[in-house]
Amino acid sequence: MKYITIAIDGPAAAGKSTVAKKVAQVLGYTYIDTGAMYRAFTYYVIKKGLDPKDEEASNSLIPEVDIKLINDGRVICNDEDVTQIIRETYISQNVSYIASYKKIRLALVDLQRKMAKNDSVVMDGRDIGTYVLPNANIKIFQIADVRTRAVRRYEENLEKNIITTLGEVEDDLRKRDYIDSHRDFAPLKPAVDSILLDTSFLSIDEAVEAVLNIVRRKLGEN
Ligand code: C5P
Repeated sequence: MKYITIAIDGPAAAGKSTVAKKVAQVLGYTYIDTGAMYRAFTYYVIKKGLDPKDEEASNSLIPEVDIKLINDGRVICNDEDVTQIIRETYISQNVSYIASYKKIRLALVDLQRKMAKNDSVVMDGRDIGTYVLPNANIKIFQIADVRTRAVRRYEENLEKNIITTLGEVEDDLRKRDYIDSHRDFAPLKPAVDSILLDTSFLSIDEAVEAVLNIVRRKLGEN
């Protein structure tokens, strides 16, 4: 059986996970949120009382961190349900440091590749099309202007009772995008064979439809 892989990359809060989840639902594929894995690792480092800015200390936890993404959307880290807590501001503010450490990336990429091996998947992240799944059948680079992304994330935070200001959210997105796109190993950038999707003026349903149209066109071509 041939499995299909769809990679959706792009900057923070571009709506990737919302779109990827819905596309996976329509197609009957498995959705894999790789950002949740970096967030769970960050949570564990902080929980252990270590500094996420300390690469060596963070790396030392690799052998003991066990991260599981459950099909119902839950994220489990060493038997603890961390689904909600990994969305907190203190995790968002530290995750890009953890994600810049090569050894941690290699460990998580290994898991991500295993998950895509025996299943058709929609995987979202920063380096899926360029590094994790360079042979993905479809690669989308999803963007939106920074203000639109900040407003969307701010509203999501309100719904989740995460208290922030719009300014803080926008600063966090800019900072994360900067660190994510300037790191040495597997930085955030569009794959040369990716299709650019600007969702600045699209509703969620329109963005989902746009991705499904790309998928239908691409798979129909092959
Ligand atoms: O997707 P999300 O915004 O939850 O990702 C959180 C952070 O995890 C990103 O800002 C980035 O630092 C890191 N990340 C990454 N590579 C991925 C997915 C996420 O570096 N494939």
